[in-house]
Amino acid sequence: MKRGRVRPVVAIDGPAGAGKSTVTRRVAEALGYTVVDTGALYRTVALACQRADVSWSDERGVGEIAAELALEDRLRMFQEQGRTRVVLHGEDVSDAIRTQEMGRGASLVSALPAVRAALLELQRQLGREGGVVLEGRDIGSVVFPDAEAKFFLTASAEVRAERRRAELEAAGQAVDLQQVLEEVRERDRRDSERPIAPLKRAPDAILIDSSHLTIDEAVKEIVRRVREVAGAEPGSEGGEAR
Ligand code: C5P
Repeated sequence: MKRGRVRPVVAIDGPAGAGKSTVTRRVAEALGYTVVDTGALYRTVALACQRADVSWSDERGVGEIAAELALEDRLRMFQEQGRTRVVLHGEDVSDAIRTQEMGRGASLVSALPAVRAALLELQRQLGREGGVVLEGRDIGSVVFPDAEAKFFLTASAEVRAERRRAELEAAGQAVDLQQVLEEVRERDRRDSERPIAPLKRAPDAILIDSSHLTIDEAVKEIVRRVREVAGAEPGSEGGEAR
């Protein structure tokens, strides 16, 4: 493994609604790895800005907030019962960051170079020891270009919008499918066209299209590939069947 890692870094990138969170969690469970949900970091920056009355387009103000959050102790992120929990200045904001509004805020603040720079080192710290699955947009291309296993998980915009709608509805937020589809497309466009760290498949990432795959099938395929990679590394334990 790279730079003394005993177990692989697994990067799962892809657009909103492709099933990344569920697949990431299930893959990590199957392998006994930890999870880093990088979208939650950008969402937390968006929330912190709103609370501080800093506009999402104010690059300087947002950059300062992101840099402050990246300091130790300001923000804690961990997994609990299969969910990412985020604690900001001692307050549990796990639910507050999961709204559509914070998804939009995250998409806006994540396009700012100062924000990406502030969160880059934090993400590298969170994954540096390996045995971790990081989900995001630019993990395989920017954050861990040397990740041992990279995947690009996607699905058609229509399938993703329907999943998002069902997810929001389950969380008690009634939404219109057409509106969700428009938002999915808009978010894709913003995430793919931004000049800095745009959403794109790293050349060495394995494409997994979940439009016609069940979650189980996508998880199985990713786990199989990670075990292949882990097993190929001398002295690694990741290839053992669990
Ligand atoms: O994955 P999630 O929907 O929580 O991400 C929210 C937004 O944060 C994305 O639409 C994207 O704009 C941004 N993001 C990013 N880079 C990441 C993770 C998320 O730009 N690694």
